[in-house]
Amino acid sequence: MTLLALDSVARGYPMRRGWLGRAVMVHAVDGVSLEVSAGRTLGVVGESGCGKSTTGRLALGLETPDSGTVTFAGAAMPPPGGAAWRALRAQMQLVPQDPLGALDRRLPVARQIAEPLVIHGIGDAGERADRVATLLASVGLRPDQAARHPHALSGGQRQRAVLARALAAGPALLVCDEPVSALDVSIQAQIVNLLTDLQESHGIAMLFISHDLRVVRQVSHEVAVMYLGRVIERGDPDAIFTDPAHPYSRALVAAIPGGSKPHAILAGDPPNPADRPAGCAFHPRCPVVVARCRAETPTLDVRADGRAVACHLARG
Ligand code: SF4
Repeated sequence: MTLLALDSVARGYPMRRGWLGRAVMVHAVDGVSLEVSAGRTLGVVGESGCGKSTTGRLALGLETPDSGTVTFAGAAMPPPGGAAWRALRAQMQLVPQDPLGALDRRLPVARQIAEPLVIHGIGDAGERADRVATLLASVGLRPDQAARHPHALSGGQRQRAVLARALAAGPALLVCDEPVSALDVSIQAQIVNLLTDLQESHGIAMLFISHDLRVVRQVSHEVAVMYLGRVIERGDPDAIFTDPAHPYSRALVAAIPGGSKPHAILAGDPPNPADRPAGCAFHPRCPVVVARCRAETPTLDVRADGRAVACHLARG
């Protein structure tokens, strides 16, 4: 069953070039369609500035699309801030990159884990205390750790506390935005394992956003690769990892340590969303570009093998 659906969603922001320059529209997300099924994880991967975090904010209703639709459990996403949206927030929670920034430094984490229960009027004081104890156990935090303030915990412990708070109201969807990128590699593995365990035990759907294809492969049932605000490849994580179809996906995979080109650097300038190249937006950096790529934007088409790819040369 489809839980979250983004259909041709676009979101832009006006940006002025220089003091007196004219305002241009930066298309952070440009016609993105994605679906997350109940209990499944969709990984969204791409470089910084590709639009993946904006996609996450649109999925949570924190941003309103300029065009296209976002639906949750079959109903249109209510306008942000309203009563209907606030009620829906119990069903959808964000797991952010920076747990210290997400937590209130002045309050013990146990109290912050209980906050969603208070906000959504779930249980009485005793039931909330029981629920917090259960949540602490499920994320591997001891009660004495939860009694501390955020700065007295390690980065991994803080992220566990943020996860417990996200799970408190029993959400159907977690939007995880670079949830492990601020952590040491050894702690990253622990949090990734915890996320996959929690997903299986709680049956939660996840939109998992990361620049790290290895982590995305580990947690996802399906992967969408984004470039300059658009999805350019979508499919099975193992298939994309072992046989990427789009030249950009190939570059991402090759650049993974242990990949075929561990220090591979994409040719050309980094993408500038305010100055989108004509035709295929990847063409200035593409090693196999042909004339057609400069004039014609490839559509995201589903191939016979089930993979969706936006490339003139990867129709399959
Ligand atoms: Fe490269 Fe052309 Fe494919 Fe774009 S459409 S990825 S430029 S081959």
